[in-house]
Amino acid sequence: MAIEAFADPEALLRQHGLQVTAQRLSVLRAVSRHPHSTTDDIYTVVRAELGAISRQAVYDALASLTDKRILRRIQPAGSAARYETRVGDNHHHLICRGCGRTVDVDCAAGYAPCLTPTDNSDFEIDEAEVTYWGICPECAAATSSPSNTDDQHRRRTPEGTSDRGEGST
Ligand SMILES: [Zn+2]
Ligand SMILES: [Zn+2]
Repeated sequence: MAIEAFADPEALLRQHGLQVTAQRLSVLRAVSRHPHSTTDDIYTVVRAELGAISRQAVYDALASLTDKRILRRIQPAGSAARYETRVGDNHHHLICRGCGRTVDVDCAAGYAPCLTPTDNSDFEIDEAEVTYWGICPECAAATSSPSNTDDQHRRRTPEGTSDRGEGST
């Protein structure tokens, strides 16, 4: 699906008024092949393809592609920013608390915002970002007994912290 939209990435860049550069094309390809990649992941792929490229050049390419909404940037709590080529469909994400695996979920409504707050405080709301947090089947299988899961939780919690809630910062 996303691949088709990237059949002609050069045209895509031109349509959005961006100069076609080897860096931008390579970044686009990397994200299209590895959805939900972090900047570091993308840098590694692009470097393998182009050889010499600075981290800054990858940052710049990601910034301009995101700015033009050719790429979508998501930033789940506690994670680095991630990029994907699936844009404009208001899809959501399932994220595994164990391994960080990120999976697309179609938006039930298909338009933004798909949820309305009980009180919008007179804001003009244009998006509701929905992230479903949980445990993927692989991680669930790896910690199938409840006592194991408990142990893992304890190991992840910093010493002296008894707060088991998921703080947002
Ligand atoms: Zn997992
Ligand atoms: Zn996605």
